[in-house]
Amino acid sequence: MSWWDKILAFIPLELVQGLGVTGKYLFRKKVTVQYPEQRLEPKDRFRGMFGFSEERCIVCHNCAKACPIDIIHITDHFEESVVDGKKRKKKVLDRYDIDVKRCMFCGLCEEACPTKPVAIWLTTKTYETAAYERNERLYFDKVRLQTWDGVLPFPGVKAPAEGGMPEDPKAEKKAAGGEGA
Ligand code: SF4
Ligand code: SF4
Repeated sequence: MSWWDKILAFIPLELVQGLGVTGKYLFRKKVTVQYPEQRLEPKDRFRGMFGFSEERCIVCHNCAKACPIDIIHITDHFEESVVDGKKRKKKVLDRYDIDVKRCMFCGLCEEACPTKPVAIWLTTKTYETAAYERNERLYFDKVRLQTWDGVLPFPGVKAPAEGGMPEDPKAEKKAAGGEGA
C-alpha cells in the first residue's frame, strides 16, 4: 500500500459523498405533502371511487359482461304497463353491486356503458374509501354507489346522489354551438 492509499484510508470519502447528495436536496423545493391536512389533486383521468346513476342505467348488463373479474352483480325484472293502449315492458333494476375491494380499476365497465352520459364512471378523483371491515364496507350496493356512505369525497367533488355526475356530452356540444344546436 502506497503512502497516498494510506492517507485515503483515513478520509471517509463515502461520508463526504453522502453529505454532498444531502446538501444538494437541502435547498430544493420540498415535495412532501402533509396528508391528510393537504392532498394532491389527482389527474382528470385518474380512476377512483365509482359513481353510479340508477336513473341513467338502462340495465343492459354490458358493464358486468365487460368486467374481467366478474365483480359487478346485476339482477332485474320486467314490469308491464299500458301506454296509449299498447302494452309496454320495462326492465327494472333490482340489484347493482360492485365488490370494490377486488377491483383493479381498469375502467372497462365504464367504457362498455352505452348511455350518454355514462351511468357508471370512475373518474371521481375520490380515493379515500378506507374501512375497518373490507368485506362489508368495500362491497357497494346501488344505494351506496350513489350516496357514497362511508366514502370521503375529494374536496369539491360531490356524491352522485348529491349531483356529482358527469355532464351530458350532447348538452355540452349544444352549448358550444355544435351538433344539434
Ligand atoms: S374497473 Fe373494476 S369493476 Fe370495472 S371492469 Fe375493471 S375490474 Fe371490473
Ligand atoms: S353498462 Fe351502463 S347502462 Fe348498462 S347496466 Fe351497466 S351501468 Fe347500466
